[in-house]
Amino acid sequence: MDLRFDDKTAIVTGAASGIGLAIAHALAASGARVVLADLDLDKTQAAARAIGYGARAFVTDVTKPDQVAALVAFAQAETGGLHLMVNNAGIGGPLAPLGAYALEDWHKVIDVNLHGVFYGLRYAIPAIKSAGGGAIVNISSILGSVGFAGAGAYVAAKHALVGLTKTAALDHAGDGIRVNAVGPGFIHTPLVDQGLDQDAQKALSGQHALGRMGQPEEVASLVCYLLSDHASFITGSCHLVDGGYTAQ
Ligand code: NAP
Repeated sequence: MDLRFDDKTAIVTGAASGIGLAIAHALAASGARVVLADLDLDKTQAAARAIGYGARAFVTDVTKPDQVAALVAFAQAETGGLHLMVNNAGIGGPLAPLGAYALEDWHKVIDVNLHGVFYGLRYAIPAIKSAGGGAIVNISSILGSVGFAGAGAYVAAKHALVGLTKTAALDHAGDGIRVNAVGPGFIHTPLVDQGLDQDAQKALSGQHALGRMGQPEEVASLVCYLLSDHASFITGSCHLVDGGYTAQ
């Protein structure tokens, strides 16, 4: 199956690292004009340079609606329109039982992982509509389907994001916009590799039926498929790429 995105513009948030970087790379290599959005200018520019294919960098904190609006305006001004949006930026947050979960940690995780996705939808949808339609993928998690002890804020945000995805799909099917969510299992990225010690990573690997964690490129493949015309009858659903984590 040849996935091509020629003449399409795509935004990927949280694109300077991990899964977002792999998605941005795969889209650019398949012909898309890609705008990488992330927090740090140097890191984002370095990622865009490493990808090549004319990929652009734009500093964006997804918790700031004015910055997300500016990101969409930048993509439109630079390339003439917006067709594809990947709301990927996310943080893990600290692990703590809900009865002791720090309020500021709760608000931070919800702000990035849920409000950030809402802002991405809120500003990208009108732009994609005015370009004649397109597709959006929101990066949820297996923890948008099942719970995980100590990760209450993350689990709540990732479950909410699935509902948001379904509603956006219903609201905008008539505008020619498909909206789906992707739920990765544990993936080797800085979020996991630097956030968890070796023993925790080994234990988590064993909870996937395939006996290992995934690679960012394995998530990017599914995201690219959902963004492509090959997925023209798929909208409003969450698609797992989890090595069998939730099958057991
Ligand atoms: P990552 O390697 O840490 O990359 C996330 C990127 O997002 C980083 O560059 C980070 O910048 C950036 N970011 C953080 N807050 C942001 C904000 N407010 N605005 C814009 N960018 C922001 O993480 P990842 O593992 O690739 O995760 C990407 C997505 O996949 C997240 O939504 C995550 O929840 C989801 N996910 C990951 C896994 C996994 O196992 N890795 C599993 C399921 C779902 P800084 O580094 O400067 O903070």
